[in-house]
Amino acid sequence: MGSLDQQTLPAALKARGVSRRQFVKFCSTMVATLALPPRYLGAVVKAMESARRPVLVWLEFQDCAGNSESMLRTSNPTVTEFVLDLLSWEYHETIMAGAGKQAEAALERVVREHKGEYIAVVEGAIPTADDGVYCTIAGRTALEIARHVCSSAAASIAVGACAWDGGLVRANPNPTGAVGLQEAVPGIKVVNLGGCPHNPANTAAVLVHYLTFHEMPALDQYNRPLFAYGNIIHDQCERRAHYDAGRYVEEWGDEGHRKGWCLYKMGCKGPEATFNCPVVRWNDGTSWPVKSGHGCIACASHRFWDNKSPFYKRLPQVPGFGVDVTAEKIGWVALGAMAGAAAAQAIGSTIRKKVRPPEASEGPTKPSSSPEA
Ligand code: SF4
Ligand code: SF4
Repeated sequence: MGSLDQQTLPAALKARGVSRRQFVKFCSTMVATLALPPRYLGAVVKAMESARRPVLVWLEFQDCAGNSESMLRTSNPTVTEFVLDLLSWEYHETIMAGAGKQAEAALERVVREHKGEYIAVVEGAIPTADDGVYCTIAGRTALEIARHVCSSAAASIAVGACAWDGGLVRANPNPTGAVGLQEAVPGIKVVNLGGCPHNPANTAAVLVHYLTFHEMPALDQYNRPLFAYGNIIHDQCERRAHYDAGRYVEEWGDEGHRKGWCLYKMGCKGPEATFNCPVVRWNDGTSWPVKSGHGCIACASHRFWDNKSPFYKRLPQVPGFGVDVTAEKIGWVALGAMAGAAAAQAIGSTIRKKVRPPEASEGPTKPSSSPEA
């Protein structure tokens, strides 16, 4: 864990043996993740070189620690390592050496000495039923801790579905009255990084943006960064050509599955989900679930456990074809069109033009300005 000396990032990186070349490469990755023009690289490098590492505390409530695990997955050198060096981590229950009263004292010291300056990261849902007794740490409820710590932070980042909207913990019937951070502590500044788990590359990009521009990136109606949640997965998917041509996996392990065809009929929710998962990918950009052969379950969508299940049942209508068109009909159209390349191309472009905005089934909370509306 860090110390409160708030050394500069270059000093921290040097101590870790990270070369300047690796540092610039990391900054370049962050510029791309933030969807900034390449000309911003110089500004990001300069800002990162001069920034004093902000203090961070990481709170875990009703969770599986999957977001911590996602953040800590390493292969040398990774985005994760840079994130660990970007910040002065003062409190993280799972990874800090201190325990008990010593750990709680560290948290209190940050709140007292860095009021209005530190970043609070929250992982996990917050129970509100029965005065929040279903999650207590060191004699205080998660609700009390979140109010105390997050209301004095410069900004809070809710990582993962549970911290954003209650996630799995909140899914019906929600016996503990779990909610996400912004509902538990209304009025605080929150950036929501939905996903199950969050993608650490996006978390790093948010922090880099904060250190470079001294403000959080542009957010959507759910307080999610637009750079990460502004595009439809279906439109970024490498299997999209198969969807357009009506080539679908019909059952797990069939010929289409082996050939990498579209997973729409297997329940893929990509047409109704937004995330940069297909671009940023996981495990240092190695792959993402659809590339690996599993449909998207829309884990970065609002209350996806309730709104996007059953996960293996396909969406009722094919997006972009009106209310009564099924995947089978698209298959017929595409087969007919394959008789002529020009016709096939026409169908493909018609499909692309007509694809409606995703997340149409997300419920009443979505505003019209978002692609998820
Ligand atoms: S339905 Fe799923 S697998 Fe098929 S193109 Fe869309 S996102 Fe990719
Ligand atoms: S493919 Fe879909 S469900 Fe899977 S991690 Fe990406 S956004 Fe989440």
